[in-house]
Amino acid sequence: MSSRDDDSCSCEMEKEIHATFLEMMYHLLPSPYEPQEINHITLAYFIISGLDILNSLHSVPKDAVINWVLSFQAHPGTKVDLNNGQFYGFHGSKTSQFPPNENGVLIHNNSHLASTYCAIAILKIVGYELSNLDSELIVTSMRSLQQPDGSFMPIHTGGETDLRFVYCAAAICFMLDNWNGMDKEKAKDYIFHCQSYDGGFGLVPGAESHGGATYCAIASLRLMGFIEDNILSSCASSSLIDVPLLLDWILQRQGADGGFQGRPNKASDTCYAFWIGAVLRILGVCNFVDNKALRGFLLSCQNKYGGFSKYPGEEFPDLYHSYYGYTAFSLLEESGFKSLCSQLGITASAAMGH
Ligand SMILES: [Zn+2]
Repeated sequence: MSSRDDDSCSCEMEKEIHATFLEMMYHLLPSPYEPQEINHITLAYFIISGLDILNSLHSVPKDAVINWVLSFQAHPGTKVDLNNGQFYGFHGSKTSQFPPNENGVLIHNNSHLASTYCAIAILKIVGYELSNLDSELIVTSMRSLQQPDGSFMPIHTGGETDLRFVYCAAAICFMLDNWNGMDKEKAKDYIFHCQSYDGGFGLVPGAESHGGATYCAIASLRLMGFIEDNILSSCASSSLIDVPLLLDWILQRQGADGGFQGRPNKASDTCYAFWIGAVLRILGVCNFVDNKALRGFLLSCQNKYGGFSKYPGEEFPDLYHSYYGYTAFSLLEESGFKSLCSQLGITASAAMGH
């Protein structure tokens, strides 16, 4: 690690410092992350996938990671009725996980779509053979989470239904190569109804356009095979979503400071360099933004001890914005960064199974 004597932001991408930062997080999460224990597996996803993007995964014992992730899987027990409405995926943390009863039946099942996406992504990144998972159990039980309007709830006990969980469901089906978990046509219709009058997508039909929701919409359509890369060059999808209107909205998300904002009149924020940038990549219009200015904005959010903060000049980085900072630099084709599968949010090599 190189030393610095001043507090000014670095003007270079300090890849080695970021790898050290993530390795430290791998060994011990600092106490401010305690309230996020319920999302432990998501924090692990940011660390493991971040190290993969930085081409530094060699420092992680892969078997230990695999065993740890598999310990979060929900096992239904001996007498499972797959039509009982429960979802048998992965828990987000140990505190949400309860042991099966004396008959081996799982009574308290808190497996969650987002945790399941993160768990399967980690397993894929570290090279676990996903055919060892009972994918039929995961996807068949997942199907009961899909609502009549095509959206998904994240957990069988309820919760908000919106585009985030349509995305998680699509990513899970894609990674397991098993689409029995969802009615794709219904999901497509739901996404279609989430496009707003201004061209972006809201989390639910009628909601304000938002960068994260727009990513979930476009990445889901890409994973489900309804759109291809560079859809501008093909007319096939024109009846599905309004692409010119989407372009109009998304190309206005770069601020004067070079960063991307999630919505009009909001400050630029590190994570939207991915949410917006990945949509631009899928649409094939990366050339229409100022990449140099975006890079400059991201570097102003880089912490001198590694990691990225949400806004420029903040004292501490956080794992969420650090991870999306790394994905953004990958989209910018930064030297030494592995290339990204935009629609899955992990490296292309992990997405292809290495
Ligand atoms: Zn953010």
